Amino acid sequence: MTATKKTHRITLIPGDGIGPEVSGAVVKILEAAGAATGVAFDWHPYDAGANAFEKTGEYIPKVLYDSIEKNRVALKGPVTTPVGGGFASINVTLRKKFELFANFRPVKNLPGLKTKYPGLDLVIVRENMEDLYAGLEHEVVPGVVQALKIITEKGSTRIAKFAFDYARKHGRKKIHAIHKANIMKLSDGLFLRCCQTVAKEFPEIAYHEHIVDNTCMQLVMNPYQYDILLTENLYGDILSDLCSAFVGGLGLVPGANLGTECAIFEAVHGSAPDIAGKDLANPTALLQSAVLMLHHIDEPATAERVQAGLEQVYREGKTLTKDVGGTSGTKAFADAVVAAMEAPAAA
Ligand code: NAD
Repeated sequence: MTATKKTHRITLIPGDGIGPEVSGAVVKILEAAGAATGVAFDWHPYDAGANAFEKTGEYIPKVLYDSIEKNRVALKGPVTTPVGGGFASINVTLRKKFELFANFRPVKNLPGLKTKYPGLDLVIVRENMEDLYAGLEHEVVPGVVQALKIITEKGSTRIAKFAFDYARKHGRKKIHAIHKANIMKLSDGLFLRCCQTVAKEFPEIAYHEHIVDNTCMQLVMNPYQYDILLTENLYGDILSDLCSAFVGGLGLVPGANLGTECAIFEAVHGSAPDIAGKDLANPTALLQSAVLMLHHIDEPATAERVQAGLEQVYREGKTLTKDVGGTSGTKAFADAVVAAMEAPAAA
């Protein structure tokens, strides 16, 4: 074991539903990886949502806000949001509070896992604070409700710039802006105009526009035609779940909520109440989110060690969770990743 070189303070939101199971698995794997690479984690765990309300009377306790503000990086499990009423989404509230304007979701096959679209590698860049997610709804008269879709030049330009900068930095070749500007001429029209303006600064990256409903069909017919999907908030949310199915489902796809000051890393999936508490959840999506986090905090060796261990477990295919055709539980999967990281092949 190497002597510890560096300790990272990380806010941990285990979440609810399958959250505590997948975050427990991920913390275990990161601790094992860090022990070998000389990286230590100082976890600062906090409840959020209904669990937090029960204990503190607040859905997002002030101590959690303070912790994220101080640590500037958080790893977050899913938090249940009541449907059709109740408290506002914890995820959306945190994204707004910390101005996490970019939602970055890479969709990539894992080795050894058979899917209909092998070798797929696309990225969804989703605006994370505006659109119908602004949560501005009211009843105009009984039986009529209005929801406001907020699209700004600032928000659209900022997310387009993020996508093009990412493409340039990582040698990506193509960006599709996804829209419905044929119907929402002003709002999606503004989004498109901002994307077009930013695209002019990046002549080496091919820029295209697709209407969102056609995009769904195109994706299922031939997802390889896409490289980066640049979207508003709601379209990005829906397309993320669709694209997760290409690589094995929601148990796999990671995400990062990025701002200029702070970052929160979380899987695309939700709290999956149907499988919660049964040792059935696949922790891969949150683990791959943690790999993104490790790169973000500049710990590439630890990130690569975790990714190598994860890929070895998939390549061997003996200890996979049920959602990807295996028979193992969350805990056994986590133990297999730890063992793979320690095996000579992954060293
Ligand atoms: P979900 O993502 O929780 O589940 C959809 C389906 O995918 C379910 O069948 C579930 O069993 C499966 N699934 C999801 N994650 C899995 C995993 N890691 N391993 C294996 N199978 C997995 O979506 P939902 O049921 O629509 O939402 C449940 C709750 O989660 C809602 O309250 C919703 O608001 C919330 N949610 C939270 C977040 C977040 O915290 N970021 C994101 C999405 C949804």
